[in-house]
Amino acid sequence: MKFCTKCIMPDTRPGITFDQNGVCIACQNHERKKEVDWDARYHELELLCDKYRRKKPGEYDCLIAVSGGKDSHYQVHVMKELMGMNPLLITVEDFFTMTEAGKHNIKNISEAFGCNLISFKPDRRAAKIISRYMFENYGRPLWYVDRLLYTVPLYYAAKLDIPLLVYGENVSYEYGGVDDKETYSAREQVFNGVAPGIDLSEFVSAGVPEDELAYLEAPSRELLSSIDPIYLSYFVEWNAVKNYEFAKTRGFKDLTHEWDRTNHIENFNQIDSYGYLLNAWMKYPKYGHAYATDYAARWARYGMLSREQAVSLAEERDHALDPKIVEDFCNFTGMTITEFYQALEKLYNKELFEKNALGQWRLKPEYIEERRNPKW
Ligand SMILES: [Zn+2]
Repeated sequence: MKFCTKCIMPDTRPGITFDQNGVCIACQNHERKKEVDWDARYHELELLCDKYRRKKPGEYDCLIAVSGGKDSHYQVHVMKELMGMNPLLITVEDFFTMTEAGKHNIKNISEAFGCNLISFKPDRRAAKIISRYMFENYGRPLWYVDRLLYTVPLYYAAKLDIPLLVYGENVSYEYGGVDDKETYSAREQVFNGVAPGIDLSEFVSAGVPEDELAYLEAPSRELLSSIDPIYLSYFVEWNAVKNYEFAKTRGFKDLTHEWDRTNHIENFNQIDSYGYLLNAWMKYPKYGHAYATDYAARWARYGMLSREQAVSLAEERDHALDPKIVEDFCNFTGMTITEFYQALEKLYNKELFEKNALGQWRLKPEYIEERRNPKW
């Protein structure tokens, strides 16, 4: 394992690249963004909105894929209040127990901005089978819902004849990954590797009727060419903390006084439900880093933490999977806690991890040292 000399992100993150000084692409892109003429980009967005603006009252100008989170609040603010568009919101629900903050925020986004919202509730029977299957066989427990997060808004934008579809950030460009080109178009997002296509016949073999697999296929190129999916992060400067500060002023609630998550370092990202968070943590056994690293790396990149502070947070928190997350995932899929940990045991990457005297999987000492003092 090698680590970014600026932000601690390791080279095990799929698709990430580094320059000869050991600076990751996300840090390089962050520096590049300081050169961007944001006024010109904002004007580009105005022109794009003018292209799709509809004249009749009550007709939607754009579809915004939202979770109800802080970024969603900011997206709706930009499109409706700054651009003067008439957006329809669409959310794909997961199957897990919602936090009080999550329940509040999804209502709040409609109320704060005065928008209609379509809530897509996916097939729970297929979800139970596929989520367990993907966890046990690929270590991707939330593949089913993540796949739908990418595909459903595309299908609905096309079906509802709303050509402009608005997403928040380009994950690959902002944080490093496959397809990290800087572009406003999100047309290729469905191929970015976050929820890659799986041969759907595997699910049929696992017991899911074929007709329950609709929407898991990536939309056809023909359908994709009939709509214009965009990343808002291309047009307006994107920063998770700034978005959070904005969202709070419009009624967004974080997890303060509700839940202190053992494997996170903040309380305002991905706070909607419990079991869904297993997904982000599952990077840990496979790639040796998880949510604490992701956010500590971002804060270091944004200059909010020193590199040393980021390292300490990753060391303290990355491994510490919160039991509430496990319990909620098991409740939904019908696995017992014992079955869960038996499956998890097999998923640890033995190249990266070894068991300590207490029976805990921990990164090998040479990687812990490498993260503290990266050498390139
Ligand atoms: Zn970096």
